[in-house]
Amino acid sequence: MSEEFTHQARKRFGQNFLRDRNIIERILKAISPTEGDRLLEIGPGQAALTDLLAASGAQLDCVELDRDLASFLQQRFAAAEHVRIHQQDILKFDLHSLSPTVEPNSLRIIGNLPYNISTPVLFHLLKNHTLIRDMVFMLQLEVVERMAAQPGNKNYGRLGLMLQYYCEVEHLFNVPPEAFSPRPKVSSAIVRLRPHTGFPLQARDPDTLELVVRTAFNQRRKTLKNSLKAIMSAETMAQTGIDLSLRPENLSLSEYVQLSDVLSDVSGEEN
Ligand code: SAM
Repeated sequence: MSEEFTHQARKRFGQNFLRDRNIIERILKAISPTEGDRLLEIGPGQAALTDLLAASGAQLDCVELDRDLASFLQQRFAAAEHVRIHQQDILKFDLHSLSPTVEPNSLRIIGNLPYNISTPVLFHLLKNHTLIRDMVFMLQLEVVERMAAQPGNKNYGRLGLMLQYYCEVEHLFNVPPEAFSPRPKVSSAIVRLRPHTGFPLQARDPDTLELVVRTAFNQRRKTLKNSLKAIMSAETMAQTGIDLSLRPENLSLSEYVQLSDVLSDVSGEEN
C-alpha cells in the first residue's frame, strides 16, 4: 500500500483488512488465477488480494462500496487496463452489466466478504449461477460450517441445503483473527463454491424447494409433519413417500427436492 494512504477502518462496511502474507498467498494458491481468466473481486479494500490478482494478467473487475477506498484503488490501478474499479454496492451490482459480456460458466468471484452481508451476497450472486465458474470467499467460520454441513449435523439447515443445491461447497482452511487489522471477534475460513453445471438434483421449482426448506427449519425441534402442515395437507404429505415423523436435520437434499416436487405438482394441479 502507498505510504501516503491512511484509512480508518469503517465498522459499518465490515472492514477487517488482511495483513498476513502467508494467508494471502494460500488464498491466491486456492484461486490460482491465470491470464485468460475473468475475475470479479468483491470488497478489494486496500488491495491485499487485488495486487496479486491483477499481477496474474487476468481481466479483473472490482466492486468496492467505500468511496475513499474506491478512489485509492482507481489511482493505484490507473495504468492497468485490465483492472476496473466499480464504486458500488455488490448487492445492487448486476453481473450482466459487466463488459464485455460474461460467457456462461466463466466468472471467477473472489472476496474477503463483509461478514454482516455475507449471506445476502451469496444468494444475490446465485441468481446468476449460470455465469459463474467458481467462487472463493473468506467468511466467518461459523457460516462456512453451516454452508458445508451434512444431514444429522447441528449446523445443517437452510443455508447449507440451498447452497448445496446450486453448488459444490468445499471448506478449504481456517484463518485466525490475528491475520487481520483490525482483528475481528470471530474466526474465519476460506470456502470454495463451484456451481453445478449438470445439476445432480433438479427441483421442478427452486422457489418451492426454498419454501419447503425454510418452513421445515423454522422450527428445528419439531417433526417435519408438524412444521410442514403450514404449507402441505395431510394428503399431500402421504404422497411424498417420506417419513415425516423425522426432524428437519434428518432429511437429505434429495429428499427435500422430492418433497418440493410433490408440492409443486399438487399446486400445479390446483391452479
Ligand atoms: N479485501 C480486503 C482485504 O482482504 O483486506 C478487504 C476486506 S474487508 C473484510 C471487506 C471489504 O468490503 C471492505 O473493503 C468494504 O469496504 C467492502 N464492502 C463492504 N460492504 C460492501 C458492499 N455492499 N459492496 C461492496 N463492497 C463492500
